[in-house]
Amino acid sequence: MKGKIILFSKYLLTMHQRKPIEDAFVLIQDGRILQIGKREGALISKSIRRLELKNTMLMPGFINTHCHLEYGFLKNRVKYRGNFRNWLREIGECSRQATRATVHQSVQQGIQQSLLYGTTTICDTSSTGISYQLLKNSPLRSIVLFELLEIGEASSIGYWMKFQDKLKTIIHASSTNSNVQWGLSPHTPFTVSSDILKILEKFSIKHQNLLVSMHISESREEKNFFKMGTGSIQKRISKLNPQWRFPKSTTSIQYLNRLGWLPKLDLAVHVNTGNHQDFWLISKNRIAVVHCPGSHSYFKHPKFPYSRARKSGVLVCIGTDSLASNQSLSLFREMYLFQKCYPTVTGFDILAMVTSRAAQAIGKGNILGQIRPGFLADIIGIPVSSQNDAPDQLYNEVIQYSKAVSFSMIQGELQMRESLSSF
Ligand SMILES: [Zn+2]
Repeated sequence: MKGKIILFSKYLLTMHQRKPIEDAFVLIQDGRILQIGKREGALISKSIRRLELKNTMLMPGFINTHCHLEYGFLKNRVKYRGNFRNWLREIGECSRQATRATVHQSVQQGIQQSLLYGTTTICDTSSTGISYQLLKNSPLRSIVLFELLEIGEASSIGYWMKFQDKLKTIIHASSTNSNVQWGLSPHTPFTVSSDILKILEKFSIKHQNLLVSMHISESREEKNFFKMGTGSIQKRISKLNPQWRFPKSTTSIQYLNRLGWLPKLDLAVHVNTGNHQDFWLISKNRIAVVHCPGSHSYFKHPKFPYSRARKSGVLVCIGTDSLASNQSLSLFREMYLFQKCYPTVTGFDILAMVTSRAAQAIGKGNILGQIRPGFLADIIGIPVSSQNDAPDQLYNEVIQYSKAVSFSMIQGELQMRESLSSF
């Protein structure tokens, strides 16, 4: 939006300071935040468009650090029966049968749902490239992580050539949009070979700013595979890729460390079974961990070691994962589920996992995730009770909120506004 716009609200949570500003304003110009403060300090002129948001908490838009929009059609489709590998195999079969139109519709609905529940930036893992094309035409800010799933492929070189061709086609076929970037997501440490990881290492040296994400240490099956070299994962690998070699008596993280691959990784998704040494390595390599509470509870995974992660200095953020293992793409619901499991974590810290810490995790901590002069104007508004002005109570109100946001803005462009007066 060209020109200046000023927002007034009952509360402004900048995420830079732990306390909200009461009776606040945010002045925005050309998609960026110009000034913030108390209402009485706002300089108003006739040329500035003015929006009154009354009993609203304005805060930074949410950042969903892990999602698969293309899997929306898999909601309630494959039942989890206690074996994670079998579930993954069934999901793979359903995905291969899905038409482009089905996947297309899933992505469109996912984008709408994300916007409705306050997400303004999404890290979306894409296996078909469809989400990249659709996100380019949507207002959401996004990083699309193209997924590498090599298991069952005859040759790593051949797979990499095919993957690169697909990548070039997808990227060149789309119009340019600076709000969409791309990165890579090797699926898991056991569904890609060490050869592909070596190739990716060289590729990432040439493309320094690529975000790299990977599902790691998600299930008991994965933990047992790296510990003992047995189980359903081992059976599948010996059938499909008997030439692949993996060490025993280790963990996924320690295996990647031995390959020298941890410095390439930005987001480690899940890490439900990480031990002290794993979190120490994650912290040392400045990797952020994405916890997905809804998906975690769906699979009844071992309890996510939040305290262990934080004590090691690891940045933890929150993602929704896909609707194949979750009921909603709302980060409100994810924060609420997290709070139920970890009631001693403060509301501010929970909100940080979808705003300031999430922005840091994706390398955008200096432009996103906080409401500060110079930052991009990605802002949402949540209706709050006016009697409730103790910060902790206000934050709990936000975390327990379950409806659509009443206001949303991405880079200064209004996406959603409800019951507000503009004059
Ligand atoms: Zn995932």
